[in-house]
Amino acid sequence: MKIDMRSIYTFSPVPHEGALPTGGDIYYECDCGKIVSSVSFLKAVCDCGNVTGGQGSVTVNEPARVKPLRGKLR
Ligand SMILES: [Zn+2]
Repeated sequence: MKIDMRSIYTFSPVPHEGALPTGGDIYYECDCGKIVSSVSFLKAVCDCGNVTGGQGSVTVNEPARVKPLRGKLR
């Protein structure tokens, strides 16, 4: 099932240095355009495969290509 996260959440950038932040309201926007929750319990993968998530954690192969965002329900 494909859901456009932008239709559900309003996203704003999270400033960070070094390691990517994680949290219930933190999402990662990959440079392929896909947004994945930083604590995804559902199996999730972005279109290019850089970000893969599931069971409460997310693996990012190339963090430099990912922007952390804070998501608020619309
Ligand atoms: Zn990607």
